[in-house]
Amino acid sequence: DNPDDASTYLTNRAGSPICLQNFFNNEFCDHEESHNWIESFNPRSGELLAHVPSSTAGDVDRGVAAAARAFPYWSQTSRQERSDILMRIASTISDKKEMFAVWESIDQGKSLARARIEVDRAISNFRYFATYILHEEGSVRFVDGQPSTMTYEHRSPVGVFAIISPWNMPLYLLTWKIAPCIAFGCTGVAKPSEVTSITAFLLAEVFKQAELPPGVMNIVFGAGAEAGSALVKSPGVRGVTFTGGTSTGNCIRQDTVADIGKHVSLELGGKNPTLVFNDVDIEEAVRVAASAAFENSGQICLCGSRIYIHRQIFDVFESAFVEYVECNYRVRDTIGPVVSNEHYTKVRSYLQQAEEENATFLTGRVPTEKPQGGYWITPTVLSDVHPQSRIMREEIFGPVVTLCPFDTEAEAILLANDNSNGLASVLLTKDLARMRRVGERIDAGLVWVNCWLVRELGTAFGGMKSSGIGREGGAHSRDVFTNLRTIHVR
Ligand code: NAD
Repeated sequence: DNPDDASTYLTNRAGSPICLQNFFNNEFCDHEESHNWIESFNPRSGELLAHVPSSTAGDVDRGVAAAARAFPYWSQTSRQERSDILMRIASTISDKKEMFAVWESIDQGKSLARARIEVDRAISNFRYFATYILHEEGSVRFVDGQPSTMTYEHRSPVGVFAIISPWNMPLYLLTWKIAPCIAFGCTGVAKPSEVTSITAFLLAEVFKQAELPPGVMNIVFGAGAEAGSALVKSPGVRGVTFTGGTSTGNCIRQDTVADIGKHVSLELGGKNPTLVFNDVDIEEAVRVAASAAFENSGQICLCGSRIYIHRQIFDVFESAFVEYVECNYRVRDTIGPVVSNEHYTKVRSYLQQAEEENATFLTGRVPTEKPQGGYWITPTVLSDVHPQSRIMREEIFGPVVTLCPFDTEAEAILLANDNSNGLASVLLTKDLARMRRVGERIDAGLVWVNCWLVRELGTAFGGMKSSGIGREGGAHSRDVFTNLRTIHVR
């Protein structure tokens, strides 16, 4: 109802490019170099959608200063007070759910149905940490042989956090870090991806409406190499929580290595295997493997992009899979585009290579060099890809999946683990003993057996090998955002 608020602003501007603003101290403000913008495009049409501030190190400093000023007060608030505010944030997003979902779908290209699921998950992030902090248990022990000496563990918030997120699930992944940051008494500066910044802009207005005190959460928009890098390196920042690609994670690791006290949590890329054993119900296995491959056009870090199938059922699975994908993942209808021109070109280069290496295209083809009316790529199922090919080894992060046979359980484990990443995996089998035998030997922080993308916010989320450092979720998030001291009292 307020003509000045962000959602009214966006609604009034629908159809013409939007100019976003940074959010410091609960105020929307212009960036330093106000002539300098990053252009963000609508993935469905390729048209200019938004001008994103190209923030400088000076802008980042303003955000960090605001967060640092808010920290002494916020870190001393009661858990109940923080919980109440988090609940208000959740309810305010919930009241605007459809608006968030529509803008997420426009900005990222995902279907409205998928966007609605992610907005619901964003709301759950706030509700979960709002209640988690009220029910945390602690323990006091008495030192063995010294009954008058007790010892207990105490936690305090770390300080100002840099929160940096990618473009594939913009609101959901940003709130996955903002909610615990606020809940555990830290303050922060969040930088969403410059490719999809709109729902973060809307979230800023929610913070105002929910009366989050000024400075507790600030949002800076801009490029990774400039605003992101300045944020990570800022001496005022005492922790970095990052979701994005492995090469960016490596840069952040290098940028923080000299400051040993900085908490760093990195959730990075994956090249996840799906193992299909010969005891499965084919129809059900095809359904799970296809959704793991193509949900959000394959642009989920947890997507299963390497499917290994027991040779006895390979042919049957292959033809059922191809038929299912052709019926259920129709481009422009049930599956969205990829996010940007740059990403289109990247995914296309892998498909071009597949063609040059004589892979078999069971569905899909190499898309045109120039995208035509949006960044559309037909879901592509490949077979006959060499195990050493880049297509099998690198994260493509698009609607591309490979099918390969295996003969034994041991070989399936070897193939699954033959990759530098270790984020997620799917096992499809009815054999309970095998679920454990294989599940416990896969190099993956997340193993889903006969399911995919099931989340329980209290369990550990994160990857092994190149897929990340640390875990978040429940007590793991608490460990990221708090410092632990042990106190002995005689
Ligand atoms: P990206 O690494 O290019 O960018 C992620 C964020 O980092 C963006 O906000 C970007 O601006 C910022 N950034 C870039 N360079 C930076 C630097 N030097 N310093 C600080 N910040 C910098 O990733 P993307 O292309 O946006 O997202 C796709 C990647 O994210 C994929 O690899 C995917 O697997 C990964 N991802 C991982 C998870 C997970 O939970 N493990 C979840 C979603 C996506």
